[in-house]
Amino acid sequence: MKKRGLVWFKNDLRLLDNEALTKAQEECADLIFCFCYEKKWFKELELGFKNMDAVRLKFLQQSILSLKKELEDIGGHLIIGTESAIDTIPALIKDYGVTDVYAEEEYASYELDLVSKIMQASADVKFHFFWGKTLYHKDDIPFSISKIPLTSKAYRIPAGREAKPRVIFEKPTKLKSVPGIKSGKNPPYKDFGFAKEEYESAVPFVAGGEDKALERLEYYTFKSELLTGYRWSRNKSDGLDYSSKFSPYLALGCLSARVIYEKVQAYEAEVKKNQSTWWLVFELVWRDYFTFKSIRFGNSVFSSDGYKNKKLTWENDTQKFERWCKGNTGIPFIDAHMRQLNKTGFMSNRGRVNCASYLVYDLKINWTWGAYYFESKLIDYDVSSNWMNWHMQAFEIWYTNPVHQSNKYKAQNFIREWIPELSAKNNVEVLIPWEFDISDYPKPIEVYKKWDRAIKLIKEIAT
Ligand code: FAD
Repeated sequence: MKKRGLVWFKNDLRLLDNEALTKAQEECADLIFCFCYEKKWFKELELGFKNMDAVRLKFLQQSILSLKKELEDIGGHLIIGTESAIDTIPALIKDYGVTDVYAEEEYASYELDLVSKIMQASADVKFHFFWGKTLYHKDDIPFSISKIPLTSKAYRIPAGREAKPRVIFEKPTKLKSVPGIKSGKNPPYKDFGFAKEEYESAVPFVAGGEDKALERLEYYTFKSELLTGYRWSRNKSDGLDYSSKFSPYLALGCLSARVIYEKVQAYEAEVKKNQSTWWLVFELVWRDYFTFKSIRFGNSVFSSDGYKNKKLTWENDTQKFERWCKGNTGIPFIDAHMRQLNKTGFMSNRGRVNCASYLVYDLKINWTWGAYYFESKLIDYDVSSNWMNWHMQAFEIWYTNPVHQSNKYKAQNFIREWIPELSAKNNVEVLIPWEFDISDYPKPIEVYKKWDRAIKLIKEIAT
């Protein structure tokens, strides 16, 4: 019997290095292509915001539009489900007589549950899943998931020694599409409960889509050679160039970690091999580690007590939490980063570390509230990277002093850009405005004694 395949795109919105797509092309007589929105992503949480906010939606819509165009350019189409895959996939299977479904393999509980319900509803169909998220394939690392080490070093060294990234899958040049199927449209933002102003004011930090991802990869490597200085610039916060900005593309699978790796290898051969090129790959291995570790610990990584089941005490002042979310704490280094996140869906790693530490250790607010907020906003939201990083901030990493860090990383221009109330202030005022008579920027929730030394140091710049 001839096979008719359905390629179900999820967090693999790309044609290059997409094993599910490649295998479907090889094994089936013809194919249908589909992506499904889940209305549940836009559910309002008890904390007062949606699971997925407008800026994330916009980035996703851009990525889907790009995928649709790429598929159409080589004879395909993209059906877009608007409610849930639970409705769309079984209906497509029935309407088109699909025999086989091809998709990326999931690992987090919500997605696994969704897949399992769809499989139950489509008992006569064969499902094929392919692991595609990480740099090293899940089956190639020298650990079983239940034995993933508790420290990154214990994972990284053996994994680097014994595993190699697999060869990438080429982009198809002509698709075996079932003829006559028209592509769908992105549902309007109103369908997901967003107001016009909310949607229009969201401006993703980078534009979504595989085309944009590959452009960015070329730019950060061969075009600008910024990669050569990555090791020394990666801790900054200001602008597009200090770090790669690959994370939003990795999160939606517009780009695979293996494609980045291959580019870095070529760069090392043709331009420069140094600590920076090593470090970028090292970061991808971190991402792998968090993915595998989150599989090992399952839903306990979402719990306040964490996977070690350790009770921490919180004050959970909701007004303070709201000030943190809005970027109105009165601490410029925190507020600038939070305002950038709210508008663009992106924040540097330095910003994430500081905002998380401030929430957990200064405001004494349950770390999971912060993780949910980041989940709502980050265009690079990735279940394991977000929750494992927050988990680490809450349970393993010590305090980060946001006043000291604003001075150390010379954040003055970044703060002026994101806090208009401080845009005309000098290099000292902009870091510690509460020490001066500045009326239109919020007074800090609290100025802690532990910041005294950093404040003194900043004042010394002026003398
Ligand atoms: P680069 O510095 O250019 O790094 C290259 C790539 O390495 C990144 O794109 C990313 O895929 C990976 N990487 C780098 N640092 C980390 C890290 N600490 N953990 C996992 N992967 C890493 N990253 C996400 O991709 N999604 C998230 O939801 C997310 N939430 C975070 C929450 C907190 C509280 C913290 C402290 C960090 C979080 N990170 C998350 C990790 C990190 O901040 C971002 O990956 C990074 O800032 C993205 O910018 P970039 O692509 O320019 O990174």
